[in-house]
Amino acid sequence: MKAHIFCVLPEMLTSPMESGVVARAVGAGALEVVVHDLHRLSPDAHHKVDDCPYGGGPGMVLRVDVMAHAIETVFGCEAGTLRRRMPVVLLTPQGERFDQEIARSLAIEESVVFICGRYEGVDERIREHIAGRELSIGDFVLSGGEIAAAVVLESVARLLPGVLGNDRSVEEESFAGPFLEYPQYTRPASFAGWEVPEVLLSGDHRRIRDWRRAQALERTRARRPDLLS
Ligand code: SAM
Repeated sequence: MKAHIFCVLPEMLTSPMESGVVARAVGAGALEVVVHDLHRLSPDAHHKVDDCPYGGGPGMVLRVDVMAHAIETVFGCEAGTLRRRMPVVLLTPQGERFDQEIARSLAIEESVVFICGRYEGVDERIREHIAGRELSIGDFVLSGGEIAAAVVLESVARLLPGVLGNDRSVEEESFAGPFLEYPQYTRPASFAGWEVPEVLLSGDHRRIRDWRRAQALERTRARRPDLLS
């Protein structure tokens, strides 16, 4: 997969894109990430990317001509046509709530474009004519889309084939099916009087499997009954 991120503060993405599972996906040849600095791509003589909102009000709005020019420069096509070739995702708190199912749907794409707003947001025409999909990472407001894009890309990168050492990791975890994952323990078996459940030390794989299933069900019922419905 090739991921293009268009943003105003590319330095915010340096660490998330160069460490952890994203770096691993890049190292494995499963992912290429290109971060595009909108200031550098701006056609404005002073490399401005934003302007005051029509009708007045606080803050600044990311300009549609800047976004269109950036896309046209990078992809060599009209900005409004790119979404026919690949998902063009606008990060916005007003978008569809991002979840594991959407991560899985993005993980099978060859290329994905992320547009990160900042300031008061983006000119509505970016949403209408350039973006093909709008994603929110939750009901709260960040100051910019860079971290939101990093969140989405991190969850997609770990689903790319061959990125995690053991594919069972993604098959058994929370949201892979209807249940949250069962609790995990590691050494030491006893610490400060806090014990690991005896069944996990038993070596009886059938009992362990049954215990884990029961725990996963119990935990989902207690924390996320909506998943079971
Ligand atoms: N004025 C906008 C509103 O009220 O809907 C919020 C703009 S926000 C301050 C600036 C940028 O941060 C947005 O354009 C978007 O790219 C990003 N952003 C903020 N919260 C987000 C969220 N929950 N999910 C995805 N992106 C978000």
